[in-house]
Amino acid sequence: MIKVTLLGTGNPVPDPNRGGSATLVQAGTSYFLFDAGRGVLQRLLGAGVLPNMLSAVLLTHLHSDHITDLNDVVTTRWVMSPVPNVTRLWGPPRTQEVVNGMMAMLQPDLEYRLAHHEDLTWTPDVRVTELRSGSVLDEDGVKITAEATDHKPVEPTVGYRIEHGGHVVVIGGDTVPCPGLDALCADADIYVQTVLRDDLVSMIPMQRFQDTIDYHSSVVQAAETATRNRVKKLVLTHMVPTPAPNSASEWIAIAAAHFAGEIIFGEDLLAIEA
Ligand SMILES: [Zn+2]
Ligand SMILES: [Zn+2]
Repeated sequence: MIKVTLLGTGNPVPDPNRGGSATLVQAGTSYFLFDAGRGVLQRLLGAGVLPNMLSAVLLTHLHSDHITDLNDVVTTRWVMSPVPNVTRLWGPPRTQEVVNGMMAMLQPDLEYRLAHHEDLTWTPDVRVTELRSGSVLDEDGVKITAEATDHKPVEPTVGYRIEHGGHVVVIGGDTVPCPGLDALCADADIYVQTVLRDDLVSMIPMQRFQDTIDYHSSVVQAAETATRNRVKKLVLTHMVPTPAPNSASEWIAIAAAHFAGEIIFGEDLLAIEA
């Protein structure tokens, strides 16, 4: 069994009902966290998983909306673990630089807690592996691979393919259609894609919104990627702009014109199994 739980389906604009970008994948007995946006631990607990239960954390890219709460994952995992608990972190080049800065920011907190708790004698151990593509891990019946995606001028970015028990899940991340994304999506059961409605964004009279159109998959492009690669279920997340109330059917209808499989409109804590 492989299960995807959408922890945060929001975009960079704060939303009272949607957390920042974060997706949990349970494969067998292992839990993998993809991105760590705003509110990730609240949603993780909502899914019944404690931060110290994560097997690994994997980042698609270093845009702030995907990593704002990475420090919370690291410190809370540290404080909640009765014994030293390494955090394995995969991400694109410059992930180590981000972690170094984050650990510097956390230094006073680490000192306070080490001084205060007699049984806490170790600091958080975050082991970073930077990659652009290739094998991430192959353990306990779970295989994860990465491919370069296209979110230029943000570069590099990566997407992930998780395989377990004959099932495949893809975390596309922020990207336009590209060869790397196609390679990840080949015959996938579940394809989770961050999406944008260019028909709506083009009507927002603000340049900062207009700037986002050319580096995200539109709903149509996500559906086309799903069809081209024989995906079974397409999951829309990180919707831009923030969807109007009761507009899910509209977003799904746009995708359905280009993809005949199941289409799921993302909501926080929605779980999808394959
Ligand atoms: Zn991004
Ligand atoms: Zn984003």
